[in-house]
Amino acid sequence: MTEEQRTIANNISRIRERISDAASKAGRSAENICMIAVSKYVEVPATRAVALAGIKDIGESRPQNLWEKAAQLSDATIRWHLVGHLQRNKVAKTISESHLIHSVDSERLLDEIDQEGMKQKRITNILLEINISEDENKHGFSANAVPNAIEHISTLRHIRVKGLMAMSSRQGGCDVARKNFSAVREIRDRLSGSLPDNVLLDELSLGMSGDFEDAILEGATMIRVGKALFTGL
Ligand SMILES: *Cc1c(COP(=O)(O)O)cnc(C)c1O
Repeated sequence: MTEEQRTIANNISRIRERISDAASKAGRSAENICMIAVSKYVEVPATRAVALAGIKDIGESRPQNLWEKAAQLSDATIRWHLVGHLQRNKVAKTISESHLIHSVDSERLLDEIDQEGMKQKRITNILLEINISEDENKHGFSANAVPNAIEHISTLRHIRVKGLMAMSSRQGGCDVARKNFSAVREIRDRLSGSLPDNVLLDELSLGMSGDFEDAILEGATMIRVGKALFTGL
């Protein structure tokens, strides 16, 4: 094992402990929480080390980096997640490489994914990104826009919505993070019960290195972890 592999393996154990502590505090099973390793800070070898350490869900925030790593790590069984903004001109290649796109943030992007999916005969699994902190610098649907977006999605045959994604406000610390996450869960709870066939809101992708415990307490089924994995912060 290289030094880097050892560090990553240690960091994974520490994160797993944090996940399991938070899960037991929430009265949940840690098995229902999927850790997505966000590999945007590292090159291919460290990304491979994560996969070798048993983490098969890996995320990138830039489409081009996802394509490149998917090509270079095609021998590893990795499910690729796009967690950052997707431009419409990058949809074709991204939908064919991704297991799940977390960051679908506009109806125009939904339409593009649907149309490209029709060409490729592919149904794309996505999450709707919610700009829950109403930060002008963040992407995502406002909470109020979600019902209309879902009505529109009911007409799109090549999209399957698995849930919602959000980031907490950068300012404000854990109290604010927890409020943000709970607001996302409330949106989900309000909409459940009257959803079209291609919209399931089972997944909540909430929480990063600094706030994933709060996310787990509020029902996150996916957490996206970068720094804690690669720097041990
Ligand atoms: C970078 C990134 C993460 C990981 O954040 P860390 O603080 O490094 O754990 C999660 N989600 C998104 C959308 C990101 O861009």
